[in-house]
Amino acid sequence: MLLAIFKQFQSKNFAKLLVIQYLLNVMSKILGIIGGGQLGMMLTEAAQNLDDISKIIVLDPTENCPAAKVGAQQIVADFKDEDAIKKLSELSDIITYEIESGNSDVLKKLEENTEINPSPDTLRIIQDKLLQKQFLQKNGIAVAEFEKIENKEELNQMIDKMGLPLLLKTRRDAYDGRGNYKINSKSEIDDALDLFSGKTLMVEKFVKFEKEVSVIAARNTKGEISTYPVVENIHENNILRTTIAPGRVSETVRKEAEKIAEKTMEVLHGAGVFGIEMFVTSDDEILINEIAPRVHNSGHHTLQSCSTSQFEQHLRAILGMDLGDSSIKTPSIMYNILGPKTFQGEYNVLFKKQDNIHLKMYGKLESKPQRKIGHVNIVDVENRGMDELFKQVEDLKKNLVIEPKES
Ligand code: AMP
Repeated sequence: MLLAIFKQFQSKNFAKLLVIQYLLNVMSKILGIIGGGQLGMMLTEAAQNLDDISKIIVLDPTENCPAAKVGAQQIVADFKDEDAIKKLSELSDIITYEIESGNSDVLKKLEENTEINPSPDTLRIIQDKLLQKQFLQKNGIAVAEFEKIENKEELNQMIDKMGLPLLLKTRRDAYDGRGNYKINSKSEIDDALDLFSGKTLMVEKFVKFEKEVSVIAARNTKGEISTYPVVENIHENNILRTTIAPGRVSETVRKEAEKIAEKTMEVLHGAGVFGIEMFVTSDDEILINEIAPRVHNSGHHTLQSCSTSQFEQHLRAILGMDLGDSSIKTPSIMYNILGPKTFQGEYNVLFKKQDNIHLKMYGKLESKPQRKIGHVNIVDVENRGMDELFKQVEDLKKNLVIEPKES
């Protein structure tokens, strides 16, 4: 008798569970991501923990890309391949991206049928450095003096106007400083123009900054804005190497940087997480260097230092959920692991485990010189202070070794 009642109870609960499961499946969405590198990989991992997302599909040219390795389905194609983007949009309920070089014209056409965030209009402005700077200037947000240039004569005129050194920048598809040429003397003009031949260009006044900082900011589809505390970034050869969270800046700079980030999010109208890079000058003037319409390398510390990582925050923002807590719970230092200059190929990582050091490798098959293949977050769980964390960074520089794999 008891057994019969128990069985009935069990089967009723089972039916309820099935209904709940069915409703969750109906309500949850298929997420499409353009780009399946490390950022796509960490977005995939965050998405796998959200009930609102049932499946993740990435579009990436590298077969078995990092996101696919952690469970995303993959369409293997170029980021700008129109047919592949269309296919992704047919298979997905919502599209986002981890790279800014996506095809905003194609995305604009698909926007009627598939939700895309940040919007193709926002992407179009941000992916062209000239449009981005014009947009910021028009909205009263400080940037370094800049100008569009189309030929040698205009470049000469700008050198006379802005002085040397001067930065010549490609307007599109530049990352890790690859689209920049610092012109120190007029004798370098031809070399600089040759390097970027065929590209649309602009010039920017050289900023003698004291520090580079960034703010990771989020805006959800309901218009709510949240910013993570400002962090300090140290670049080596134009590549981000170290992020210190929170940044070692004055209270005035902290407040001002976060205010600028909020204002930027208000005028941009985009939904999602944005990485806003800034220069701080010796008299505490803050200028925006550039905006990334996506999760950003300088926000990787949030995986351990905050209760909501930038990856979860991005998904919350584009799905219209309430934004999570963005305060820093434990100060930390993020240190990027770059492929050694000495070899290219399959590799082993030699690393001595420590409780407060979180190693994240991106699953890239090959190490290439100066290519980001992982990062570590060194977290101050014992409240020992930044100096101790810096000592651990110095130890890592010696003890974390990327070596060629014996075949
Ligand atoms: P970007 O790819 O434009 O963000 O530039 C890469 C790096 O070049 C920045 O992180 C800065 O270190 C440096 N840089 C870019 N623009 C300027 C500028 N106007 N003045 C001085 N340094 C700059």
